[in-house]
Amino acid sequence: MIHLHPSGKVTLLEIDNPPVNATSQAVRQGLLDAIERLDTDPAVGAIVIAGAGRTFTAGGDITEFGKPPLLPHLPDVITRIEACAKPVVVAWHGTALGGGCEIGLAATKRIIAPDGSVGLPEVKLGLMPGAGGTQRLPRLVGPVVALDLIASGRMVGAKEALALGLVDAIAAGNLREEAVALAESLIGQPPERVSERPVPASDPTAWEATVAKVKKDAKGRTAPLAAIALVETARAEPFAAGQPKERATFFDLMASPQSKALRHMFMAEREVARVPELAGISPREINHIGVIGAGTMGSGIAVAFLDAGYRVTLMEASEAALQAGLDRVNGLYLRSVKSGRIDETIRLERLSRLTPTTEIKALAETGLVIEAVFEDMAVKLDLLGRLGAALPAETIIATNTSYLDLEVMADALPHPERFIGLHFFSPAHVMKLLEIVRARRTAKEVLATGLAIGKRLKKIAVIAGVCDGFIGNRLLARYRAQCEFMLEEGALPQEIDAALEAFGFAMGPFAVQDLAGLDIAWARRKRLAATRNPAERDVPLVDRLCEAGRFGQKAGKGWYLYAEGKREVDPEIDALVRAHAASTGRAQRSFSAAEIQSRVLTTMINEGAKILGEGIAARPLDIDLVLVNGYGFPNWRGGPMHYADETGLARILAEAEAIAARDGAAYAVARLLRELAGSGRTFASLNASER
Ligand code: NAD
Repeated sequence: MIHLHPSGKVTLLEIDNPPVNATSQAVRQGLLDAIERLDTDPAVGAIVIAGAGRTFTAGGDITEFGKPPLLPHLPDVITRIEACAKPVVVAWHGTALGGGCEIGLAATKRIIAPDGSVGLPEVKLGLMPGAGGTQRLPRLVGPVVALDLIASGRMVGAKEALALGLVDAIAAGNLREEAVALAESLIGQPPERVSERPVPASDPTAWEATVAKVKKDAKGRTAPLAAIALVETARAEPFAAGQPKERATFFDLMASPQSKALRHMFMAEREVARVPELAGISPREINHIGVIGAGTMGSGIAVAFLDAGYRVTLMEASEAALQAGLDRVNGLYLRSVKSGRIDETIRLERLSRLTPTTEIKALAETGLVIEAVFEDMAVKLDLLGRLGAALPAETIIATNTSYLDLEVMADALPHPERFIGLHFFSPAHVMKLLEIVRARRTAKEVLATGLAIGKRLKKIAVIAGVCDGFIGNRLLARYRAQCEFMLEEGALPQEIDAALEAFGFAMGPFAVQDLAGLDIAWARRKRLAATRNPAERDVPLVDRLCEAGRFGQKAGKGWYLYAEGKREVDPEIDALVRAHAASTGRAQRSFSAAEIQSRVLTTMINEGAKILGEGIAARPLDIDLVLVNGYGFPNWRGGPMHYADETGLARILAEAEAIAARDGAAYAVARLLRELAGSGRTFASLNASER
């Protein structure tokens, strides 16, 4: 775990705990033993701490989280490093995160590799640094920068770290040799300790502005607020008083539901890629893909693939539509340059890998073709028929459909085993979620290829089975309908949106619908009208809005009014909703935020349980990932299935029964929910990682 490499009067202490040098118990013990030995060894004049492999250390060992801490504790190890009578230099490479950063803060000097980065990302797990980070960082870089870094959890690269005073040098050549030389130059000098420094004075305006920004960005999360308190402590009190406060905060947060939820999300993101039945199946190597349809989705999908290094052939139905699509792609790239995300050279290189075409045969040289044409089965079937004739039998063909039946589409293709759903979310080059829809005949190799592509695109890829709306849109359709039911019982759109935003959703469902455009829902309603079960509860309000030209933000009005982009409540909508509600003859009453939240969440959870029971989603964590990464569900609540466990399934079951009794067969209680609640089990018991 810890190797010692003497070099003259300097000994380099190497942390070696693959894959990311997590500060597990054995590493902590090894570090402590080594420092104590080197401190008393008269042959040693200075010490360098470095990491083996690709990274210094990526932080704590997450498998130890939430369990009783094992000795020695990291803060004690770090205190011992700082107390060393000899100078200690830390050589950061790869990433120095969390404990890796805190070890460095206890050193006399810090040097970083040019491509190294450093940060305190604990806030992302609902935690705070617990090994001196919140007390030493303000002393090193000042309170304003420290608060920004601790509350955002962002990583900084070498250049920024140097500019902020977080490191003393960037290695010009060999990091370890330069770290040893730096350590040599310090021999004989009493080590300067960060914890003994005063916190530098800061501009009060800058401090207030940073505090205000942290509060605003917290949006319901408690950990960023703890960062403010801890940096305040560092400013007001000596290190010895601040450190126990930091430690107490760390343990409080570790036991908090928010951190539990965020750690669940962290584990879920890793677990989701593990699909046992695909073990040993190699994905196909694909470097050139085709996209058909360069509308909202197709243009974003093309950009997502170009960004990930693929060659992309983009096909449209006509020259005019192709030009409009290329304008969209160019627009997205120009925006990226303007915002500083990429530079001009990168933009040109990415665009150089794009080939526009109106000819289907131009797609024959690609390994995968994704269709993103109109959401219309006849259009899709016609296209698939032509693709089947024009493309080699092995070309993988994917659809980006939101709701349509993949089995019907597969029937239109020769070799349906190469057919798969790749359901991107808008905007496709930004949104992290990718639903990979597996049809009955989809080959395992094709599924494995879909997952490999998701990984290369840096998306969170979740496998779903075929049903109306797959995982995300199926849940969405149910809980959105439930929101509309409440409109018939006395609630107003703005009350429902406010309740769900207070729960932590990025946006309420009516505001989201205005953003996406109500015409999408309207078109779908018209399509489904002929087959709708008349016994099923249905709210026709969207039809009324669209008939009045209220298509949402793009029309300046939908469920709300949009004056200069700002959403405003419209009395006309209130009147329309009230009149419709009265016409149903249902009893009218007012709704509390808690009641709205409970009804929406329970609907989501019940449908999630059905999806699990049907095998559409493999594990509860798949559903949690979909809702958090595609539908604005707050990550600090851990997704609906995790939230259900935290709330208690008995309570969810009781509410689900009330909903089923009122709203009919479509809302029947899921068998799985009944079984789990009845046997005192949880959804988490179905997640391999949490068994
Ligand atoms: P869109 O109307 O913006 O774009 C569709 C494009 O397909 C148009 O540019 C059109 O010219 C082109 N097209 C139509 N028929 C074609 C053909 N035969 N050959 C080549 N090009 C053709 O639609 P969109 O919003 O991008 O949606 C595309 C698909 O993605 C749909 O299946 C939709 O359900 C799905 N989807 C949409 C969203 C979303 O938020 N908009 C999200 C996920 C999935």
